[in-house]
Amino acid sequence: MSNRFYDFSASLQQLEQQNLYRRRRIVDGPQAVELQVEGRRLLNFCSNDYLGLANHPDVVAAFRSGADRYGCGSGAAHLICGHSSAHHALEQELAAFTGRERALLFSTGYMANLGAISALVGRGDYVFEDRLNHASLLDGGLLSGARFQRYRHADSEDLQAKLARAQGRALIVSDGVFSMDGDVAPLPELVRLADACQAGLLIDDAHGFGVLGRNGGGVVEHFGLSAEQVPILMGTLGKAFGTFGAFVAGSAELIEYLIQKARTYVFTTAMPAAVAEATRAGLRLLQAESWRREQLQALIGHFRRGAEQQGLQLMDSATAIQPLVVGDSGRALAASRQLADLGFWVGAIRPPTVPAGSARLRITFTAHHSLQQVDALLAALGKVLR
Ligand SMILES: *Cc1c(COP(=O)(O)O)cnc(C)c1O
Repeated sequence: MSNRFYDFSASLQQLEQQNLYRRRRIVDGPQAVELQVEGRRLLNFCSNDYLGLANHPDVVAAFRSGADRYGCGSGAAHLICGHSSAHHALEQELAAFTGRERALLFSTGYMANLGAISALVGRGDYVFEDRLNHASLLDGGLLSGARFQRYRHADSEDLQAKLARAQGRALIVSDGVFSMDGDVAPLPELVRLADACQAGLLIDDAHGFGVLGRNGGGVVEHFGLSAEQVPILMGTLGKAFGTFGAFVAGSAELIEYLIQKARTYVFTTAMPAAVAEATRAGLRLLQAESWRREQLQALIGHFRRGAEQQGLQLMDSATAIQPLVVGDSGRALAASRQLADLGFWVGAIRPPTVPAGSARLRITFTAHHSLQQVDALLAALGKVLR
């Protein structure tokens, strides 16, 4: 081809040389602890299906009967004719679950964050983000056109100093549980600063819902914070809920505002109603079956004790995300490959997903893992990281 625009080979080669090239593995069959991956059976330690609901019979049955009742496509955006009684019921159930007046469904978490942040702040405003926030939160801040500032990870003093210099409306944005580190944001501090500075506060609890809190209410339940203290609460449905999509929960007025203003809400097709029906089943299980959270905590404790005995360098995480930082991308990639040869699937997370020099193995647990499987993983990690 002579048109140089289409020549991507140098960029691709560079990624390969830097050990930053990404490849997809083809999975056959449903999400489970054991996955069939390109002719191999691998023990899955990289999924976000924390409660093991992605292939739960009740969730699958609700999806099927949802398809029987509503068909497949939703036909249009929510504001045209795509908002079904299934979507509406799920929104009401999510509002009740989160203890908020209303909830609003988005088609993905990425879109929820882009849409909400860019609706809430704009030119002349400020947005303050933890530097380890999920890409969708950072991108939402950049898209908004507000003055964009990152504060040091989980550092409320740095945030306070930055807030003190801001003149105008400000929004503070943070992950509840950090997706690549597994640690929890200093939420009570963020709440205090937001109140003191009359700033907005948006918490993305993609990895806290279902996992943290007695009832799976996530990081706000973990800290015992009210709807007034965390007025904008976002969650995703593709992780512990076991399905797909996302929501923002808050006051009736906030939700009404987002319906008018969030462009990723207004200008996109509604998720299939059957997905909403499946999610209603996922939400019921997430709330009712607390044994899943208890099993997860048992696995996490078991893993951390075993890793410590082996002298593995753990991060400060009490959640289902247990990363082992190895630093170099090539080393992380090689470790992940060796683990696969031993029958374990653990993802190598590299820049730009994590800061340069902090490539890691991101180990995640689900309620369906057994203690024996965790022991087997620990033995394999011992071999590979020695
Ligand atoms: C996964 C994730 C998202 C994106 O959600 P999707 O529904 O997968 O688009 C947003 N924020 C955080 C913190 C996440 O981990």
